[in-house]
Amino acid sequence: MPNFSLKDEVFENAARQFPTPFHLYDETGLRKRARALNEAFSWCRDFREYFAVKALPNPTILRILKEEGCGLDCSSATELMLAKACGFGGEEVILSANAMPPEELAQARALGAFVNLDDISDIGLLRTHGGIPETICLRYNPGGEFSIGNTIMGNPGEAKYGFTKPQLKEGLAILKKEGAAAFGLHAFLSSNTTEPSYFPSLAELLLTLGKELAAESGLRFAFIDLSGGVGIPYRPDQPETEIRAVGEGVRKAYEALIPDGSVAVKTELGRWMTGPVGWLVTRAVHEKKIYRDYIGVDACAANLMRPAMYGAYHHITVCGKRDWPADHVYDVTGCLCENNDKFAINRNLPEIALGDLVVIHDTGAHGYSMGYNYNGRLRSAEILYTAEGGYRMIRRAETARDYFATLDLDPAAEALGLGPKA
Ligand SMILES: *Cc1c(COP(=O)(O)O)cnc(C)c1O
Repeated sequence: MPNFSLKDEVFENAARQFPTPFHLYDETGLRKRARALNEAFSWCRDFREYFAVKALPNPTILRILKEEGCGLDCSSATELMLAKACGFGGEEVILSANAMPPEELAQARALGAFVNLDDISDIGLLRTHGGIPETICLRYNPGGEFSIGNTIMGNPGEAKYGFTKPQLKEGLAILKKEGAAAFGLHAFLSSNTTEPSYFPSLAELLLTLGKELAAESGLRFAFIDLSGGVGIPYRPDQPETEIRAVGEGVRKAYEALIPDGSVAVKTELGRWMTGPVGWLVTRAVHEKKIYRDYIGVDACAANLMRPAMYGAYHHITVCGKRDWPADHVYDVTGCLCENNDKFAINRNLPEIALGDLVVIHDTGAHGYSMGYNYNGRLRSAEILYTAEGGYRMIRRAETARDYFATLDLDPAAEALGLGPKA
């Protein structure tokens, strides 16, 4: 079931203070999720969630997660800068990148962050960019299909990430020679899965492999990093992932394999953490009836790309009309010159009037952050609904000046009064 934790009143009040569209994030809901995750893994002596920054790279959100004891999983130089600016450092940060500029490895090392190497060739890059650390993380790709029981959960054989098993062995031997003393293992084999046995199965796989690699390499097996991938129910008929059951499942696998509790457990959840506590608040601004009925809203794929990019479902409600019968069928669209710019297709909804607030659910992860500027459309503001019940703008909406900022070398920006000197 998508998240209905906020009343329509919250969206209506926010829309009185700030022009639509905007993403609204619920601080209380966010803290609850962070606490539930930490509680689910509280059996583990050394557990830490490294929130995947790319899911919601807003410093206010990152500082809230820091208060809840989370670290950060960064994927680029700018995300490392963001982490540092928010006060994260040392072992609170992990860099998981692939085909990355080697300077980013040096930047992560300078921050004291864990480095999660994606490929055996990265060892040479790390040697010359920051140096080999005492503890190093390696990303594993088992190839083939990843199944739990009869269900195919993912297709690692087609994924660009990670080391093969022989490469892990070879890599660890090299790393040991170059001064590493301990290693962690990371894998991401299934995306947006609400199947509670995903993390337990992955933990079993990584712990079994890690023990074998430790025995063979003589390096200490320091941690497993289960990464992200735990899903959320975007659709009304989908069940919520029981995070407590996920934690319990991992505990069972862990206790069977690591009875002395010597291996730390890390996660890098993005979607599960923030997805359900974000909403894209839009207004119906256009109605059109041709072969279908269309409602145009004031947001577009530039504000939320998932439907256009993946055909992803996002639940939609209309403020003040939650109890109305869903007896109209609409395509809910944005304004891009792209026919995939549709937040909903043939969706049963209550009758929508122009001016209605149309709320798109579960936009707190991979929502704003995937935004772009196609058609010259600008990204929206981000609003925090605070634990005290207030509304705080935590990112302003883009303006034309932002759009022209990268053209400040061109006379066009100056001519429009939007150059750097204006
Ligand atoms: C994207 C990503 C995550 C977060 O994934 P979710 O599906 O949002 O949980 C975590 N770790 C890595 C390395 C990633 O690339």
